Amino acid sequence: MKTVIYDTDSSSLEKAAQVIKNGGLVAFPTETVYGLGACGFMPQSVNKIFKVKGRPNDNPLILHIGSYEQIYDLALEIPEQMSKLKKFMPGPLTVVLKRKDIVPDEVTAGLNTVGIRIPSQPDANAFLKMCGVPVAAPSANISGRPSPTTFGHVVEDLDGKVDGIIRGEVCSVGLESTVLDLSTGEPTILRPGAITREMLEEALGIVYTGGDGNRPKAPGMKYKHYAPKAPLYVVDGDILDEIAKYNGKKIGVMLTDNISLDGDIAIQHLGNNPQEYAHNLFKALRYFDSAKVDVILSQDIKGDGICEAVRNRLYKAANNR
Ligand code: AMP
Ligand code: MG
Repeated sequence: MKTVIYDTDSSSLEKAAQVIKNGGLVAFPTETVYGLGACGFMPQSVNKIFKVKGRPNDNPLILHIGSYEQIYDLALEIPEQMSKLKKFMPGPLTVVLKRKDIVPDEVTAGLNTVGIRIPSQPDANAFLKMCGVPVAAPSANISGRPSPTTFGHVVEDLDGKVDGIIRGEVCSVGLESTVLDLSTGEPTILRPGAITREMLEEALGIVYTGGDGNRPKAPGMKYKHYAPKAPLYVVDGDILDEIAKYNGKKIGVMLTDNISLDGDIAIQHLGNNPQEYAHNLFKALRYFDSAKVDVILSQDIKGDGICEAVRNRLYKAANNR
């Protein structure tokens, strides 16, 4: 398949939106990561997403919309907490609500709930408004790989496999959205993200944590994610001691501290603050693939706020989780 590249001027975005309306697949930039979109009302198009990504089909997709009013078409009821969350929508927050029958099982993996998000990134927002329909989209990577945060990452994974890719900017946040379940009466974080626990608690009062563990709330959460090709170990303790154990191997090291290392080591420094760690994490993991390292050692990410989301992704990618 020939993949068409679309720029972000409005006539190109209109053409890309037409592909979605005709049942095709288009990858598009957002503030979190690039998404791989299909019309959320066309089951056959939604199924193509699973096929192209190699994604297990019990892992639900998020519906992306351009304006808040579209939520009323999709959700059976709007819990009162929604009025306090409006300030994060548009933004990197997905809310899980009871769904109307109009939402196909293919989108929700048969659940009676649906995840909904309004991206704030201007090209994404314009594109979604042009689509008019909700756009079902997971991250635009081959299943299991680190999520794409640049146009180049999407090309690496999906060129020749999808109808179109929108050539947008680097994703500012760099991690997938916070997923907040509002379908049970107890607001529950299913996936941490840039809308942090502290921000949600300030808006809603008490917020619960769910999802991971033996009884996953979202079926998709049981799968290994974000993994680079080489085994990745998070090191709690002195990373220099750990590096010494892999003498003779090609080592990749991911750092948050400013440590200088000698020898033939592939180094990725994640940045100087938690926002930068989030922004750079997936890019760093993909870099280690291209550097063909045998093993990756990472410093641990500690702390609250967005660090919770960075640590969540780091451990899902790691072998010692
Ligand atoms: P991805 O876009 O690849 O990050 O995948 C979407 C993720 O959103 C899923 O893996 C789930 O964690 C979450 N999600 C989407 N829809 C629902 C839902 N109805 N209930 C719970 N979680 C959901
Ligand atoms: Mg994903």
